[in-house]
Amino acid sequence: MIGVAILGATGSIGRNTLDVLERHPDIYRVVSLAARSDARRLAELCLRHRPEVAAMEQPDAAAELERRLREAGSAVRVTSGPGSIEALARDGAADVVMAAISGAAGLRSTLAAAASGKRLLLANKESVVMAGDLLLAAVRAGNATLIPIDSEHNAIFQCLPTGARIGERPAGVRRLLLTASGGPFLEWTAAAMAAATPEQACAHPRWSMGRKISVDSATLMNKGLELIEATVLFGMEPRDVTVVVHPQSVVHSLVEFVDGSTLAQLSAPDMRTPIAHGLAWPGRVSAGVEFLDLAKVGALEFRAPDRARFPCLALAEAAARAGGAACAWLNAADEVAVQAFLDKQLNFEDIPRVIEGVMHDAPGGSLSDLDEVFAADGAARLRARAELGVCRDRVRSSLA
Ligand code: NAD
Ligand code: MG
Repeated sequence: MIGVAILGATGSIGRNTLDVLERHPDIYRVVSLAARSDARRLAELCLRHRPEVAAMEQPDAAAELERRLREAGSAVRVTSGPGSIEALARDGAADVVMAAISGAAGLRSTLAAAASGKRLLLANKESVVMAGDLLLAAVRAGNATLIPIDSEHNAIFQCLPTGARIGERPAGVRRLLLTASGGPFLEWTAAAMAAATPEQACAHPRWSMGRKISVDSATLMNKGLELIEATVLFGMEPRDVTVVVHPQSVVHSLVEFVDGSTLAQLSAPDMRTPIAHGLAWPGRVSAGVEFLDLAKVGALEFRAPDRARFPCLALAEAAARAGGAACAWLNAADEVAVQAFLDKQLNFEDIPRVIEGVMHDAPGGSLSDLDEVFAADGAARLRARAELGVCRDRVRSSLA
């Protein structure tokens, strides 16, 4: 039996992972689950999937989880506090670690899984963006197997020649093409987008995801983060990664080779496909997804992104060119701006403005250790909060 730890178990990726695992009880065993604060939901998942350990980031939530489990007669061990989630990532019982915590909060546990030589199913793209070099170094030092779960990067991974290694530019590849659905505002005017609400931004037409990544999809920053992720995971220069809008979300990305061939991976827009691929690679297991009916899909459309309405894309490209420190700043600025927007403290159109303001001060070059990464992250968050103050007056007047 293959032991699986799921970090971010209560989220969209976490629950999709559990759905795939539940279809193969003869192959996989859930050994641990971790989440931030939703004790009710984590208790339900523990009762259903019976891990050995469950960790909650917030101590109050851990106490509530423990109470709920004991009342239900469950003996699942509950942990909390600093290092508890990383301990699950390192635990010898886990052969596979699904890194599905959202945001910078997932960095330490993702690195711990890599350094411990796990099969690392990497959904937490923010850790690649803020600390790409450190993550690759940890994968190498730990002799871990990193499989990208972000659907675009998983698609690219599936199209690469056998023997391609994570972090190294694959032989014969000319360009990577990252597809973007375009998000909920693909056909909106700039004026309509300016006043978009969090509910509208989170109503993605093709994918059901957590709120942070949903807003990133609406600004196209998600594609910008993914561009950085692609340069790290596949050893590509930013100029060799092209974003193409594909509203049907059936082609999940493409690899162009020097001989003029282009390979693509197609599937229904359902994260259970990349998750099942990562679990079973190099084999395959069923994922419970709908199979493609191409006649029903009909036309597949591709177009260039509208850079004027989606300035986040250029901000991310500039960070990718500037190096690791700038990418960490971009990630932090985006997390602060998106959270402020979700809290109704920032207008949608001001998300890129806040990030752009922060990026004026972003340093170039690379970050050599975790202390430097967290220092860059902290400095950028501080700078972003100052920038928020400038934009807040606009929110007040727009709400008046
Ligand atoms: P989500 O918001 O639905 O879930 C996030 C999970 O992380 C929850 O279980 C939450 O409890 C946990 N978490 C958050 N902060 C934490 C903390 N400080 N400590 C411990 N746990 C914490 O998000 P999601 O949509 O599942 O996305 C998860 C990650 O996967 C993100 O990095 C996202 O970019 C990436 N991703 C998601 C999708 C998707 O379709 N949802 C696709 C590609 C990549
Ligand atoms: Mg993606």
